[in-house]
Amino acid sequence: MTLTSKWNFPTTVLFGPGRVGELPAVLASAGIARPLFVTDPGLAKLPVVADTLAILDKAGVEYAVFSDVRPNPVESNLAAGIQAFKSGNHDGVIAFGGGSALDLGKLVAFQAGQSRPIWDFEDVGDWWTRADSAAIAPVIAVPTTAGTGSEVGRAGVLTNEVTHTKKVIFHPKMLPVTVIADPELTVGMPKMITAGTGMDALAHCLEAYCAPGYHPMADGIALEGIRLVLENLPRAYADGTDIEARAHMMSAAAMGATAFQKGLGAIHSLSHPIGALYDTHHGMTNALFMPYVLDFNRPVIEERIERLAAYCGISGGFDGFRSKIMDLRTELSVPSTLRDLIPGLRMDDARRDLIAEMAIVDPTAGGNPVELTKEAALALLEKSM
Ligand code: NAD
Repeated sequence: MTLTSKWNFPTTVLFGPGRVGELPAVLASAGIARPLFVTDPGLAKLPVVADTLAILDKAGVEYAVFSDVRPNPVESNLAAGIQAFKSGNHDGVIAFGGGSALDLGKLVAFQAGQSRPIWDFEDVGDWWTRADSAAIAPVIAVPTTAGTGSEVGRAGVLTNEVTHTKKVIFHPKMLPVTVIADPELTVGMPKMITAGTGMDALAHCLEAYCAPGYHPMADGIALEGIRLVLENLPRAYADGTDIEARAHMMSAAAMGATAFQKGLGAIHSLSHPIGALYDTHHGMTNALFMPYVLDFNRPVIEERIERLAAYCGISGGFDGFRSKIMDLRTELSVPSTLRDLIPGLRMDDARRDLIAEMAIVDPTAGGNPVELTKEAALALLEKSM
């Protein structure tokens, strides 16, 4: 194994209940005078947004709200966001919401000043160097799910409506300058979103921990992130007002996204085409594939999972950890098959082939500890059915 690697660490995170009250001061220190507040239409109707806008109003901040953001955002959302950003002469973005609003807010701040099409900045090799870095506007990220960890990430996920593929757009300067991680903002999440987003954080930590390569910092963060999810997701699910559990889940979400710079794997490689083709919830889709991918990778990861199980106080090594995941899925009412996740699903051979082909070229496939061949992707898909 090579001891040569590249490590990046996240940004300033103001963590704790009530810290959203510091938003005006954070904007001022980032030099943002006219922010565009990017959120999604569901959140825009909830008190969590009204209360945050009241904080901005009280401080006299001049802002506009943009909420044309679908779950699994698409290029037309980005185009509309850029139009709002430019026409309002904004100088920064408050990205407020779950992964969809956070990603779209980051992408608006990134793309508004670029002259090339967004797909030229896909996370491939050094394509990010094509961007004009000086034209990227600053972002303050305020997550309301826990979650994708997009608030501490340098990428945004956008679905290409023409090719029906989810693309990761990357630039180091897409990293928000400051994050306000206030667990009180996640209290209103419905149970299904609490479960799905929490399982997303778990999938990030688990795939990062299992990815090959030398990154002991990421490994350590992922280990503790997994422990936090296993101990706190059932609590947050059972009682959404349990602030301590919500806070630990918010940490675990940021830890997952910090750790996955080491790599992701086949859970995500399969989840991305399913999400792009059927518009399923990303975290729930990850949760569905998790045990099958664990089994597939077992010959290579068994020893690592034994150490993980021991750290988390789970007896029975690999099998004990796998059972814990299965029990967690049941406790959180995670759909156990693709047909449960996508009611009325009918999948012919051509569709299966397409999903397997999309999975093996997904950028996350390279991080799987066992090579994800087309045959393997088809077998995993079959198990999930
Ligand atoms: P989401 O942002 O799509 O939100 C799901 C639903 O939850 C929405 O209807 C929203 O209105 C609602 N919601 C959010 N917060 C709420 C709250 N506090 N109270 C009540 N309702 C609330 O879901 P998500 O799982 O956070 O994000 C998924 C997106 O993130 C996908 O597009 C996925 O591809 C992307 N993603 C990005 C990264 C990254 O690193 N950038 C990582 C993983 C996933």
